[in-house]
Amino acid sequence: MKSSVKRHLVVNVCSGCGACIGICPVNAIVPVDIKGYAGLSIDTGKCVKCGLCVKACPMIKSVEDSSTTTIVSRENSIVRAFLTYATDLNIRYRGASGGVVTALLIYLLKKKEIDGALVVKMDKTKPFPLIAKTAEEILKAQGSIYFPTFSLSILKKLKAMEGKYAVVGLPCQIDAIKKLIDIGWLPRDRITYLFGLQCHGIFAPWYLDYVLKNLLKLSKDEVYEITARRYGWPGKIFVLSKHGVYVVHLFDETISVWNPLSSSNLNAQLPCIICTNHSNVNADITFGDAWMPEVVGREKIGVSLIIARTKRGSELLERAVRDGVIRVEEIQTNLASSESIFNYDKELLTTLMNNGIIGVASKYGLRGLLVVVARLLFYRESSRRVLLALLPPKALFYILYARKNLLHKAINKL
Ligand code: SF4
Ligand code: SF4
Repeated sequence: MKSSVKRHLVVNVCSGCGACIGICPVNAIVPVDIKGYAGLSIDTGKCVKCGLCVKACPMIKSVEDSSTTTIVSRENSIVRAFLTYATDLNIRYRGASGGVVTALLIYLLKKKEIDGALVVKMDKTKPFPLIAKTAEEILKAQGSIYFPTFSLSILKKLKAMEGKYAVVGLPCQIDAIKKLIDIGWLPRDRITYLFGLQCHGIFAPWYLDYVLKNLLKLSKDEVYEITARRYGWPGKIFVLSKHGVYVVHLFDETISVWNPLSSSNLNAQLPCIICTNHSNVNADITFGDAWMPEVVGREKIGVSLIIARTKRGSELLERAVRDGVIRVEEIQTNLASSESIFNYDKELLTTLMNNGIIGVASKYGLRGLLVVVARLLFYRESSRRVLLALLPPKALFYILYARKNLLHKAINKL
């Protein structure tokens, strides 16, 4: 891919992970709002063209790298799934889904296996990344944030600190950390655990303005604080404003964030449309909601569906269960097989993006071509990705950019 296109992608098709800001040696990159989407601005006067930002960007990886490692072939990789929750009722109730991330981080701190963890907490209405070094700081970061956090923007600070750390992140953030470990920028022995959150997309910042203005009839400066997904499962979003507290539901209510805009992915930050790593395959443990028939409608306090992906992650879970920190119930699921299909899709799509249909035919043969056709015919989500993937990267960039501008115009008319 040409470097000019790469630069466009870094700046305009940004997932908001913050890795480039966090590693730029001359602090030339700052987060900016680009027509309601989280984006970046590079000060070309400061930039020394070291190329680190492009190397760290997880979205460049996802559109460029066709040699994606599959989870089933990773060394040491194990895929075991559990339903789980924290045994401390307070931690469990205050977490987004069972408080397991919080309970494990506090456990690791107490055992002195980590000196801190990179987490994100809400500071009034804005996400705020921090390196939490005490149980109190970790507790303050409970809950969910559905908007870009730029949490890896504090990586230089993390690297400069002594000790061992856990990183909690979305798939694009964990992918960026993995890239930085692979290129030697971040020593692996300093990052003891990668805790990955499942993610099916985050909202572009304009959507917060939309929810406040159109659903709650509030302006942003009337809002003091927003907390999401705390106090029971699946939880709600509380908006504390100068007119009182408003409750936004996840779905099935008049005021809910899961509306036609969300279900059609129209409110997503742009890279989420082409992202294929929703289950965070590079983490040691993946944490997500248990949207399963045996849980939905019955569970009220909180439970997570977690996946142990490495020996290190699996052993941590075993110790935490033995020491009474979490409870787990292993569930039999065909995760390995579904993830292998998922990774096959991803490799196919990245090959399509880089080498076109001829590349797919020569690398994957008739089966690959049939998969492309089947996805186009039967899967709405995948069809969109395949259609995007069929386009050369430059066309992909311009279409995403045009879509962003059109949406911005439409939203301003609401
Ligand atoms: S190329 Fe290097 S100096 Fe320039 S913006 Fe990227 S990381 Fe910063
Ligand atoms: S969907 Fe993918 S690109 Fe979007 S925030 Fe989640 S992991 Fe990042």
